[in-house]
Amino acid sequence: MKRGDTLVTYEDLGVEKIINAVDTYTIIGGSLMPDEVMEAMVEASKHFVNIDELHDKASARIAHLTKNEAAFITNGAAAGLALSTAACMTGNNLSKIEQLPNVDGLKNEVVIHRSQRNGYDQAIRQVGVELIEFGYVDKTFPWQLEGAITENTACIIYFAATSLAQGALPLEEVIAIGKKHNIPVIVDAAAQLPPVENLWKYVEMGADLVLFSGGKTLRGPQSTGLIVGRKDLVHYCRLNSSPNHSIGRSMKIGKEEIMGLVAAIERYVNLDHDAEIKRMENIITYIANELQHPAITVKRIFPGPVGQTYPRAGLYFDDSSMPAGEVHRALEEGSPSIITGYNESENKLIINPLNLIESEVNVIIEKIKKILQIK
Ligand SMILES: *Cc1c(COP(=O)(O)O)cnc(C)c1O
Repeated sequence: MKRGDTLVTYEDLGVEKIINAVDTYTIIGGSLMPDEVMEAMVEASKHFVNIDELHDKASARIAHLTKNEAAFITNGAAAGLALSTAACMTGNNLSKIEQLPNVDGLKNEVVIHRSQRNGYDQAIRQVGVELIEFGYVDKTFPWQLEGAITENTACIIYFAATSLAQGALPLEEVIAIGKKHNIPVIVDAAAQLPPVENLWKYVEMGADLVLFSGGKTLRGPQSTGLIVGRKDLVHYCRLNSSPNHSIGRSMKIGKEEIMGLVAAIERYVNLDHDAEIKRMENIITYIANELQHPAITVKRIFPGPVGQTYPRAGLYFDDSSMPAGEVHRALEEGSPSIITGYNESENKLIINPLNLIESEVNVIIEKIKKILQIK
């Protein structure tokens, strides 16, 4: 059969395509896979392999590429949070691994900054643990972390996003306290790329396990995530994961996704990152040139949404023009739907170039001109 006869498309289903000018949000599909990632997945889909052997060799390749002593592929950074927590509770004890999510007799507390509580912490709680908060909402002292640690502490979780840094202790300080009490520190760095160095930086700083999303800036399959760090702990993550009967059996990662993420990481670490930043800077400059109008001021915003080292365009609207929220909504409701960021109090629209291609930039500019009725 010809491919065209069987290809199912978004159009077939009546699903609207979106231009992503906001971020690598899961709700709109995260990121797009480059050809080499798709090709690796298609090739992987044609043959059976032993999944344990595949994990061994894929992990070794990724550990090497990311300058870590160990790595493991899971089906998302959120799964990484659950598996890392489980790893710190069970070690390599198979009966403890089978026991989860019942936590009787296991270390059942995970310590977290009060100021870093966020929607992803349910992925930690799903393992049955209790989150023990420390610090104030807007400020934290080292003694507050020390005071939260007990004999039941399984690990300390730290979110690396700069948006969650305010009020939290610096990671260095958390690592030092973790080491002093012999408690592993897990760093959620799901979206912390670029810079590429972050793939090894947190571990070099002394973090025990670090999690990345495979489906964000790495542009691997949406249902992938990466765990890197200490060899023993990474191994315990794996014991708690599919294909083993364990808490992570429901977080299965397929052979195609494993190969897709290996290809994505291989691509990402070898990417010309300066050229990629230049590409994004050029988009910002282009937008600023195209949208020269008394009612709009275009400014370069740096860094990225959670501290990544790339620029975005901020479109500040004059009081006399439309509220940014309304422009945002008009773009979203248009066809194709365009999703941007916006900030009501500063009356600005934010265009993130990370996931944009050139032709889409022009579509966005024309649409904004039309909404604001400018030539
Ligand atoms: C996106 C994100 C996650 C979840 O990543 P997935 O790969 O989608 O599971 C977890 N933590 C943080 C901070 C994130 O930004």
